[in-house]
Amino acid sequence: MTVQGRGAVVTGGGRGIGAATAEALSNQGTRVVVAARTSAEIDSVAEALRGNGGEAWAICCDVTDPESIESLINQSIERLGRIDILVNNAGIATAAPLVKMSLSTWTQMWAVNTTGSFLCMRATLPQMVEHGWGRVVNVASIAGLRGAAYISGYAASKHAQIGLTRSAAAEVASAGVTVNAVCPGYVDTPMTDATIANITDKTGMNEEEALNAILATSPQHRLITSEEVAASIAFLCTDEARSINGQTIVLDGGAISTH
Ligand code: NDP
Repeated sequence: MTVQGRGAVVTGGGRGIGAATAEALSNQGTRVVVAARTSAEIDSVAEALRGNGGEAWAICCDVTDPESIESLINQSIERLGRIDILVNNAGIATAAPLVKMSLSTWTQMWAVNTTGSFLCMRATLPQMVEHGWGRVVNVASIAGLRGAAYISGYAASKHAQIGLTRSAAAEVASAGVTVNAVCPGYVDTPMTDATIANITDKTGMNEEEALNAILATSPQHRLITSEEVAASIAFLCTDEARSINGQTIVLDGGAISTH
């Protein structure tokens, strides 16, 4: 599989799926910019990659801020020469009944999950198209393919991110660039820890019961690991994946297809 020597930007790279993706790409010889807001986390991820023999840089970025994205892209091009791979992984999730969801909670999820992906793609696709090679992977969710109670804002933003993925894929298909989405079920990350804490807080369940409620949504009765998601993302970034475009790669143990 060939991603060696490519230059990648991974947003939300400080922990969870983003950190695992930065590691998977780096292990395959990709030079990686790790971006998020918390400098201690991205510094630590980049340092670990360098300690493992990779080339990696940490750059602070808030994907809800167009100026911050412009600065990320400019600094990344300075370091990488060119951005070949963009992984739009930065994301947030807040659960609430629709009728109790504040406008600011709704707007913030859209700003990070959807508009953040749009702005990062708008800033990087032109140079990918000019070069005739590029890979964009948007980290969506199975919540981008179906709804569920209490996640209307998150699910709406992820459905939109998938619409963005499919439309962008059509625009760049003839230029050697692909745009795909991965759609995991529950992954073992700090985001899911927060989901479990929220369930215990709202329902009075203990942690084990809350975890079991989450596991009941998966036919495999387990959390997906970040490394599994990262491996699929890394594959989509290879030359060998050049025909896969505009797709939603579902990693859910069969939840969507068997229920
Ligand atoms: P985490 O909460 O563990 O990590 C999220 C990352 O996104 C952090 O590095 C965070 O860093 C960054 N981030 C959040 N807001 C911003 C922002 N405004 N600008 C830049 N970076 C930001 O989440 P996961 O690893 O679990 O999730 C990663 C992606 O996977 C998300 O898009 C999520 O929706 C999706 N996903 C997760 C699932 C799960 O079960 N965990 C299931 C399906 C999809 P910082 O706060 O420092 O900015």
